[in-house]
Amino acid sequence: MAQEAQIVTDSGPRPIVPYLKLEPKPHLIGSKCACGAVYLDPKRVACSKCGASGPFPTVDLSERGKVYVFSVIHQSFPGIKTPYVTAIVDLPEGVSVRTNLLDVDPEQAQKEPHKIFGMPVEMVTQVASKDREGHDVIAFSFRPTRN
Ligand SMILES: [Zn+2]
Repeated sequence: MAQEAQIVTDSGPRPIVPYLKLEPKPHLIGSKCACGAVYLDPKRVACSKCGASGPFPTVDLSERGKVYVFSVIHQSFPGIKTPYVTAIVDLPEGVSVRTNLLDVDPEQAQKEPHKIFGMPVEMVTQVASKDREGHDVIAFSFRPTRN
């Protein structure tokens, strides 16, 4: 798995962060130490739990997790629509991911935060921008799970 080839053609879309893989379908990846600790950074050089040094094997992470904490952002960079909701999502592998939450009403979230904490969410991707060569840049967010 560590040597897994990245199937992204030259004209294809590019992930916005190194721990997002687009093929065969979008998912997050991490590094897994022999002690069981998992890190979102695929190029992690050392394990802070047991002190082992990497490189560590790459593991695929779940698309589903639970909201650990969230906050409503009222001010952001020019061009970014506010308010919006950011969160830290816990994945079953023991990794936490910082992300935006889609399909969650910021006002409602502030009124009833208990409904957001622990909420099951799933990862979705969207085109965030284009890079200088015209490739779509793909970002990820999480939204409440749909069945
Ligand atoms: Zn370790």
